[in-house]
Amino acid sequence: MTDNAAYDYIVVGAGSAGAVVASRLSESGAYRVLLLEAGTKGSNHFWARVPVGTSKMIDDPAVNWCYKSEPDEGSGGRRIDVPRGKMMGGSSSINGMVYMRGQAQDYDHWAQLGNRGWSFQDVLPIFRRMERYDGGSDKLRGRNGLLRVTDTPRKVPLLEKIIAAAGRIGLPFNPDLNGETQEGIGMSQVTISGGKRQSTAVCYLDPVRGRPNLIIEQGAMAEALILEGKRCVGVRYSVNGVARQARAAREVIVCGGSINSPKLLELSGIGQGALLRSRGITPVHELPGVGENLRDHYSPRIKFAIKERNLTFNDNARGWRLAREALKYALFGTGFLASTAVPVRIYFRTREGLETPDATISILPFLYEMVGRQRRVAKRQGITMNANVLRSESTGSIHIKSADPAEPPAIRFNFLSTEHDRTGILAVIRKGRELMATSPLKEVTGEEIAPGARLQSDEELLDWVRNNAETTYHPVGTCKMGSDPLAVVDSELRVHGIEGLRVADASIMPTLTSGNTNAPAIMIGEKCAEMVLATATARKAAA
Ligand SMILES: Cc1cc2nc3c(=O)[nH]c(=O)nc-3n(C[C@H](O)[C@H](O)[C@H](O)COP(=O)(O)OP(=O)(O)OC[C@H]3O[C@@H](n4cnc5c(N)ncnc54)[C@H](O)[C@@H]3O)c2cc1C
Repeated sequence: MTDNAAYDYIVVGAGSAGAVVASRLSESGAYRVLLLEAGTKGSNHFWARVPVGTSKMIDDPAVNWCYKSEPDEGSGGRRIDVPRGKMMGGSSSINGMVYMRGQAQDYDHWAQLGNRGWSFQDVLPIFRRMERYDGGSDKLRGRNGLLRVTDTPRKVPLLEKIIAAAGRIGLPFNPDLNGETQEGIGMSQVTISGGKRQSTAVCYLDPVRGRPNLIIEQGAMAEALILEGKRCVGVRYSVNGVARQARAAREVIVCGGSINSPKLLELSGIGQGALLRSRGITPVHELPGVGENLRDHYSPRIKFAIKERNLTFNDNARGWRLAREALKYALFGTGFLASTAVPVRIYFRTREGLETPDATISILPFLYEMVGRQRRVAKRQGITMNANVLRSESTGSIHIKSADPAEPPAIRFNFLSTEHDRTGILAVIRKGRELMATSPLKEVTGEEIAPGARLQSDEELLDWVRNNAETTYHPVGTCKMGSDPLAVVDSELRVHGIEGLRVADASIMPTLTSGNTNAPAIMIGEKCAEMVLATATARKAAA
């Protein structure tokens, strides 16, 4: 084992949150920061730059952990794909690039659970500071941050029909889905600028690669935390099979994401004692919540054929039209290749009495099909709708299967295990059908491909969901923040009972946010860095 030099801080994982933490902690130049990233590829990876590359990377083990869930009742016994970015920028380098903060109520709920400093009023200044966006109100939106956020252009002809139909079912156009209200139909805001993906690697790390106090190791897989008693003092990791270790004089911040952060804690002896022993690991610190509280947005894909030609992306994805799109992209950085797959979304309430939306449909103006393991834009013209209950309540778990760091953990989603999630998803499917049956969309709508018009009853539809839904790739909550017996970190993201150790990524979210999880994960990275630096300043003042 090679002993590396000591650092002030070690950050594990250069993803949405970790890249931000490392960038901010190294900003002043006062601290030496080591950033360990298991993936080998950087932001110059071709498909990570071109927005359409998401579909190429979604099952590419060169840049993706390509996990799979365990079969369970909610998935009809299937193993569901759980893609996670494994490269600089983490999942922000392979994701769908939709930028959605969620609702003010999401964060207020975290604060109500006892997490001081996490109400919407607390986190709003962080969101404003981190983003660079031209639209919306000055009160709510940030203009000068490091993360470039833009509006998706309203270019696909079908979108105008979708927007008009949504208006007729009481969902008017909302110019800023991250603004005062989330309700209505709106163009997706995206982390795309100049036709290129804006991952945290691009926005937070590439510009500061020259900092002498920020040491980045790619292809460095953290295998265990080094604990001396109840203090974390470093990380054991491997590069190309060679074991190494590094020591942190101040803190280790684990940012491995919702799957790998609890896994690393468990491999280090932090978690449920009996489970760890059964996997051959000596428990160091009993923390029963590690790996529990897994939440995600379960998502059936509703599909309809579109009868009229040239309304969807499907027509642009082959032959001379694809060549034209490639040229458009090469010359101007625009067109189909420069777009998110989800240009427009609706947010709505599934029942009376709710104050804010509890459901969303993300609309892909095309059909896709699976060719082997690859997703391809289909020949047939159509529309795909990803249906989500926003704050779904089903919880599952992630636990190691063995003491081998290379073995993927067992991911159990337990989807549809609450009445709330079952009735919610039925309402979302029916809203999707209602939208497609409304003018002027109705006139171009063809056959309902999935679930299929013959499935009407609650049981038929739930059965279809169980057997066909995927996730929306938003696992959260497995190292949840709080003060109850299942909380893993406190409101400053310090691991309960262990000194010198924090977790900062999507795993700390106690509950799901109302929408996609990249923006919240980046905010968590920003807030963590702020708290770590405040601790350092306080210690200095006290010394
Ligand atoms: C296919 C896909 C599409 C998505 N679409 C969207 C979208 O459109 N909009 C949106 O907001 N969200 C989207 N998401 C979700 C969003 O990207 C994630 O919630 C967010 O990126 C999570 O950030 P994180 O910091 O928690 O983890 P990640 O960004 O996944 O970062 C974890 C990092 O840690 C590294 N790592 C893990 N374990 C180790 C280890 N042991 N040693 C060293 N390094 C390690 C990983 O390689 C990775 O780089 C999508 C996700 C996926 C996968």
